[in-house]
Amino acid sequence: MNELIKKIGDIIKKQNSFLIVSHKNPDGDAVGSSLALYSLLGEMGKKVYVENPTDVPQLYMFLEDYDKIKPIKNDKDIDVVIAVDTAELDRCGIQKDYVEDKIFINIDHHKTNTLFGEINLINADAAAVGCILWDLFKQNGFEISKKTSQYLYLSILTDTGSFRYSSTSPKTMRIAADLLERGVEPWFIAYNIYESNRFKTLKLLGLVLGTLETYYDGKLAVEYVTQDMFEKTNTSAEDTEGFVNFARSVRGAEVGVLLREDGPNLFKISMRSKDKVDVTIAASAFGGGGHKNAAGGQIEGTLNEAKSKIVEAFSFLS
Ligand code: 5GP
Ligand code: MN
Repeated sequence: MNELIKKIGDIIKKQNSFLIVSHKNPDGDAVGSSLALYSLLGEMGKKVYVENPTDVPQLYMFLEDYDKIKPIKNDKDIDVVIAVDTAELDRCGIQKDYVEDKIFINIDHHKTNTLFGEINLINADAAAVGCILWDLFKQNGFEISKKTSQYLYLSILTDTGSFRYSSTSPKTMRIAADLLERGVEPWFIAYNIYESNRFKTLKLLGLVLGTLETYYDGKLAVEYVTQDMFEKTNTSAEDTEGFVNFARSVRGAEVGVLLREDGPNLFKISMRSKDKVDVTIAASAFGGGGHKNAAGGQIEGTLNEAKSKIVEAFSFLS
C-alpha cells in the first residue's frame, strides 16, 4: 500500500474529530468529495464537520447532507482538518494559525497544488478527488456505504464531464463500476445534475450564448455574463455552472472562455481546452490555476479590457 495512504488511514482510525473543507464556489468534485468524507467518517462514529467559504449551489440541494455544509468559521475544536479539491490554501478559507495545533491533510488532484498541508496526498493523474478518496477508503479497509458511494460518484461524474474527458481511465471506470455495485443509481444523480435545469438558468444561458465570439480562425471562443444579465433573469453566478463548456464546444475551437462579471471592473475567468492547449498557463498569468484542460482566474478592468487580455493571452493560437 502507498505509504501516504496508510498514514492518512491510521490518522483517520486514531483521531476522533474532523473538519472537512473544500474550495469556494464548490463544484461537483468539491461537494462530492467533502460529503463522501463527511459520510464515511460519520459512519465510523467520528465527530465530523463540513464547511465551505461560500454558499453551496442549489444544484446540489438534492443531496441528503446538503445542509450539513456550513460557512467556514476556523473555530471548531477538532483533531484533524482535511482539505479536498483545493489547490491553494486561501481558496478553502482555512487560516494558518487555526491549523497550527491540528493535523492538516491536503487531498487533491490539481497539478498546481501548492502543498500547503502538513500531509499532502496529491495525484494529478486522478480524474477527480473522489478517485483518490476511493483508493484511500479501499486500501485502508473502510466500509464504503451506498451514501458515501453516491458522493464519490457525483465527484467523479462531474469532474470527468460524465466520463468524457481524457482524464477518464480504465481505473476511473472500474471505480465507477464498484460504486454502482454499492447501490449508486446513475440516473438519480444524472437527473438531478443535468436534467433539472431551472427555467431561468436556461434563459440566462440564452443571453450568454448571444455574446459568443470567436478569434484566431475560430480556435478561441469567448462568451460573457454580466450583472445586468443576472438581474434580468433573476439568477446569480451559481447559475453559470457548465456554461463555459458551450464556448469550448464550438466546432474547431481549441479553447473556450467564459468571462463572469463578479463586481465593478472585476471578472472571473473560466477557461476550458479540448486537448493540446494547457490553460493553466493563462490561468497563472491571471492569478489563478487549475488543470490542463480546465482552469480559472480573475481579471480587473472593464469588459472590453478583460476580453482584450484574454484574446492576447491566447495569441499563440493565431
Ligand atoms: P472553474 O472555471 O470551473 O471555476 O474552474 C476550473 C478549474 O480551475 C477548477 O479546477 C478550479 O479549482 C480551478 N480554478 C478556477 N479558478 C481558480 C482560481 O482563481 N485559482 C485557482 N488556483 N484555481 C482556480
Ligand atoms: Mn476536482
